[in-house]
Amino acid sequence: MKPLSEKISSIPPSATIEITDRARRMKAEGTDVISLSIGEPDFDTPRHITDACIDALNEGKTHYEASQGIPELREAISEKLKTDNEVDIGASGIVVACGAKNNIYEAMEACLNPCEEVVIIDPSWVSYEPAVRIAGGVPVHHSLNEKGFQLDDSLLEKITAKTKMVILNTPSNPTGSVLSKDSLNLVADICRDNDIIALSDEIYEKLIYEKDHLSIGSFDGMDDRTITINGFSKAYAMTGWRIGYAAAPQDMAKAMTKVQQHTISHPATFAMWGAVAALKGDQSCVADMRAEFDSRRKYVCGELKSMGFTVAPAEGAFYAFVNINGDDMERGDRWLSEAHVATTPGTAFNAPGWIRISYAAKMDTLKEAMRRIREFEDRRD
Ligand code: PMP
Ligand code: GLU
Repeated sequence: MKPLSEKISSIPPSATIEITDRARRMKAEGTDVISLSIGEPDFDTPRHITDACIDALNEGKTHYEASQGIPELREAISEKLKTDNEVDIGASGIVVACGAKNNIYEAMEACLNPCEEVVIIDPSWVSYEPAVRIAGGVPVHHSLNEKGFQLDDSLLEKITAKTKMVILNTPSNPTGSVLSKDSLNLVADICRDNDIIALSDEIYEKLIYEKDHLSIGSFDGMDDRTITINGFSKAYAMTGWRIGYAAAPQDMAKAMTKVQQHTISHPATFAMWGAVAALKGDQSCVADMRAEFDSRRKYVCGELKSMGFTVAPAEGAFYAFVNINGDDMERGDRWLSEAHVATTPGTAFNAPGWIRISYAAKMDTLKEAMRRIREFEDRRD
């Protein structure tokens, strides 16, 4: 048989998903593995959201819909962006897709010509580089200063005539850190001066414990060059629903919609009705989950620090990013095979020497995981 796509064969599988699958297999074979490798809220989707979806199914909302997403959801998203983020994009600039991951890929397809460059700020989430490469773009990596995990002028060195886009992710997966106003201003200046698009992934916006969330799309002169990405997976514990969105200037939204029309059409109609209920309903569920994540964060970071590890500023999301001062692939493997705790090595995020621990798990589970890691580290050769 003729060889399959060289482009795809050179792209690694998603580390977050692969390691979690390995932990699942170990569990199925009888090993008592604690899985802290995937970023997924352990809470059930709030009841009023699932009820709205069930109602939609019972009311026969089971047909094809507008490819950009149902108007009711796009209106609610547009309203949310105005109120929470000072991003003023009408419903026609909103594209609802099958998870923020799908939106990010659509944005790449819509914006990139072959060989155009996309600056990715490391440590970076595992799927940015593959999305750029699948769409034919060229990823250019820039590392954050590991002390404060903020940006400085050195970012300018990565900008060339071919730079089309910069990807931002605040709060960050994997570090948990939040970009400061100064860092965002620097990116905004660079984007305006060099005619570059900012793709701002704000999926962890609601899970922020220190500092305030800022959307670069609200900065002066950024409204016509920002694609704001967000979704329902993290804030509303709706990972399996697969609903995310992009808010973008009209021409970009139209191009993304074309990609959508020829690939997914749109996400499941009844799932979009659940998302309407999430945005329009009582928001105390979000605050309750955030409060729970906050106490887990304090516990896990405290434990790791007491073991002697340096932890990145855990200001948002639900990850502790730990500097293990050694080979993260080897240590992550040993934490899994010997201590039976699954985590994700920093190498997967272009940050060797670090390990990401998701604290989106019950407190008792986290306590047992910390006990196992401490015991392993105490006797490690
Ligand atoms: N961006 C980041 C930084 C993420 O961690 C995730 C988690 N999967 C996503 C985007 C995609 O989220 P989803 O596709 O579930 O909306
Ligand atoms: N974003 C989560 C993570 O990083 C979910 C898995 C994925 O989509 O990568 O673990």
